[in-house]
Amino acid sequence: MALITCSECNSQVSDKAATCPKCGAPVTAVAKAGPVADVTSQLKMRPAFKVIGGIIVVLFGAGAVYNLLQGRQLFGGARFNDATIESIKQDIRTKLGERGGVTVEDVQMMAESPRKLTGFAKIKVVLLGEMTKSCSATMSDEGQTMWECR
Ligand SMILES: [Zn+2]
Repeated sequence: MALITCSECNSQVSDKAATCPKCGAPVTAVAKAGPVADVTSQLKMRPAFKVIGGIIVVLFGAGAVYNLLQGRQLFGGARFNDATIESIKQDIRTKLGERGGVTVEDVQMMAESPRKLTGFAKIKVVLLGEMTKSCSATMSDEGQTMWECR
């Protein structure tokens, strides 16, 4: 037996009773079904909300962590990232290629530490043939980069 609230006097009435023992108001089917249906629908909804809520929390959480890491990169000192590595590779390619008789075939640079890159440039020199130059790049506190290949 479950207790429901009388819609007339708000007293607790057995759901088996036909009328409210206090005020005599009929305990209707709607009044009987109402609270029970609400509880079950809430119970059914809850796990779904938990999952969705969990996903939202994870997404926002991941976003916050990502932002923190980005912030650390921006404000915690300069360091190489994919974009700066790519621009240095491009710069090496351009500068070496400007030399007469040199064709740049490949440039690879990898981060050895946050502010140091090492790699190589494969070039083809007229009459001399293929050569591989060792390259390194560094970044200052202010984010200024410099590189050399030899
Ligand atoms: Zn009543």
